[in-house]
Amino acid sequence: MKSLAPPLVNDLQLLHGMARNTRLGHFQIIGNFLNQLTDQYQLFIRHNGSPALCMALQTGTNLEEALRYYYDNPPLALHHIQTIRESSPRVCPMCGSLKSWNIDHYLPQSTHPDWSLFSLNLIPSCDCNLKRGNRLIGPGNERILHPYFDLILNQRLLSWNSVGIYPNINLTLVNLVRNPDVQFHIDEIIMNTNILGWLADKIGSFVRCPSDEIITLNPNQTITARDLENAINDLRMRKDHSLGSLNNWESVFCTGLLGDAQLLNIGLARHNFIQANGYP
Ligand SMILES: [Zn+2]
Repeated sequence: MKSLAPPLVNDLQLLHGMARNTRLGHFQIIGNFLNQLTDQYQLFIRHNGSPALCMALQTGTNLEEALRYYYDNPPLALHHIQTIRESSPRVCPMCGSLKSWNIDHYLPQSTHPDWSLFSLNLIPSCDCNLKRGNRLIGPGNERILHPYFDLILNQRLLSWNSVGIYPNINLTLVNLVRNPDVQFHIDEIIMNTNILGWLADKIGSFVRCPSDEIITLNPNQTITARDLENAINDLRMRKDHSLGSLNNWESVFCTGLLGDAQLLNIGLARHNFIQANGYP
């Protein structure tokens, strides 16, 4: 999860240019629906893409096919599609994983084809876009967070705790976050990724050798509980800054660890054992 500045694209100008470009195979179709598409783009802007308020045209024509074609085979004028795809390579704005090579249509192409090319509907993402849930709106009108509009993504939102026997892990919201859209986003986007397995692997590695994961720890020094917490805080701050998000998975790992007294005690004892006796 990561807040992003909206792309600087003049979508309406691009649309009008496509309608005039006789070299494009489907220019006439775009031209025929130019007014409706213009209205749809403006509707999206007015409501920040709210799925409750942005209804697709349902033209039942080959307009949808043409828009999909140009998304899959963008002419030079639509270079913003590739630019957006590459605009957050180190962290996925939708789920916070440490990769991003794809595009998520915030309003899916399958149900909302009108916005297939619209820059504000295109969000760089990892493969979480292929795994997201089917619901666009929750029972209380909750919706998936939008990295261009939802500034709450600038806050630290996500943590985890271990339940019962390790490695049973729950994703949790950090204290004081009471936002139904955030919970909906977690349920529909993040819980469909491999974040729990990823965290379990990190925890396992931490328990075996804390300084392998907490690289801000000096592996050659006996430490106190305060030293360990300082090192985890320091690592989290570096990840926050370098990845430009407080909700990248590395920072989420640190946040959960800082709240788990039992794991911190295990890590402290393990680090000092290794320091005294070497890695067995
Ligand atoms: Zn993702």
